[in-house]
Amino acid sequence: MSEETAPGFATLAIHAGAQPDPTTGARATPIYQTTAYVFNDTEHAAKLFGLQEFGNIYTRIMNPTQGALEERVAALEGGTASLAVASGHAAAMLTFHAIMSPGENFIAADKLYGGNINQFNHSFKSFDWHARWADALDPSSAKALIDDKTKAIYIESLANPGGVITDIEGWAAVAKEAGIPLIVDNTMATPYLCKPIDHGADIVLHSMTKFMGGHGNSMGGVIVDGGSFDWSASGKYPMLSEPRPEYNGVKLHETFGNFAFAIACRVLGLRDLGPAISPFNCFQILTGMETLPLRMERHCQNAQAVAEFLESHEAVSWVSYAGLESSPHHALQQKYMPKGAGSVFTFGLKGGYEAGVKLIESMKLFSHVANLGDTRSLAIHPASTTHSQLTDEQKIAAGAAPDTVRISIGIEDVKDIIADLDQAMK
Ligand SMILES: *Cc1c(COP(=O)(O)O)cnc(C)c1O
Repeated sequence: MSEETAPGFATLAIHAGAQPDPTTGARATPIYQTTAYVFNDTEHAAKLFGLQEFGNIYTRIMNPTQGALEERVAALEGGTASLAVASGHAAAMLTFHAIMSPGENFIAADKLYGGNINQFNHSFKSFDWHARWADALDPSSAKALIDDKTKAIYIESLANPGGVITDIEGWAAVAKEAGIPLIVDNTMATPYLCKPIDHGADIVLHSMTKFMGGHGNSMGGVIVDGGSFDWSASGKYPMLSEPRPEYNGVKLHETFGNFAFAIACRVLGLRDLGPAISPFNCFQILTGMETLPLRMERHCQNAQAVAEFLESHEAVSWVSYAGLESSPHHALQQKYMPKGAGSVFTFGLKGGYEAGVKLIESMKLFSHVANLGDTRSLAIHPASTTHSQLTDEQKIAAGAAPDTVRISIGIEDVKDIIADLDQAMK
């Protein structure tokens, strides 16, 4: 399809992956609340189990409501396929499971969601997988860290929590030179603001718990296969290139080509490690995604206005929002996410740690929660919560210094959001 005849983003957000239910005519995608599916006959069952035919077996591996969601996310991100799982953390876990063997390492940019920093530094170490931290603002800082046991590069497009825009094309060039895939966590930007695959990413991850679902009511994660990486070229990715004993010697990359990564995450990682998403959560997230473009537009408009208000406020020492012309990330924002800089950002209070705690306690409209990407405006003081397990050095590197407040601007009337911040700062 040409650019003009291909459906636009808002159309895909509503229609991709969804058809009227073939048996009932139901227009909204039903919640297929079942664990298992009846096989036509024993031969059909054998083919499904042997990966010779696609179809439903058991909801730990796939489910029709989940399937609609997966098609929709793949269409919005421009990927070949996707796999929905129980949470954003499960998406990262299954992605690395398909790539890593014990004793190997990957490069991670040092501006990441605090939960991923913990996951990489602690839980992954018990699998003998090792994160090597590079400067998120300088892709070339990764080069000296890469060796023959380095299997991937992991970055966030719009980094949590500090409103940092990473140079995806710069990171993609380093990954390409090293012959390893670039994994981009696109949770904070969503495909409405940025499509990392267009800039060279090989795999895109989301916590759909955030903007994709958008209403703060359902956990979910997704792995999008960009279809671009050659998993067989180097021999470094045996799970994809070597025969699988449990599937009669099938080689996943050779058999499934440009969607082999999504298949590997499903038929090996999800099947064996088990973090399946519930059909109900898929339904909630599917419904939320229908309004993703509208919500993101309003989130960004409101966030821009709030950032401008804070920048001129006397109690505020700094604001880190890439939509502000004063931001060092403004030029990259114009390049990678010209429609807006997202709605999660940080600012610093002149009164430091104490003022941060006091502000949070004085807010009325804002909710004090660990979540973000909700219709509601949310706030948190990362140093005493999400990033509290990190050392002071790691906190500062991750953009969560003691004076820092993180806000996720909702889609309420912006005058009410600003009024609440104003009274709380007083
Ligand atoms: C929340 C979040 C995650 C983790 O997702 P969960 O759904 O909470 O497991 C990963 N990356 C980013 C950027 C996030 O904001």
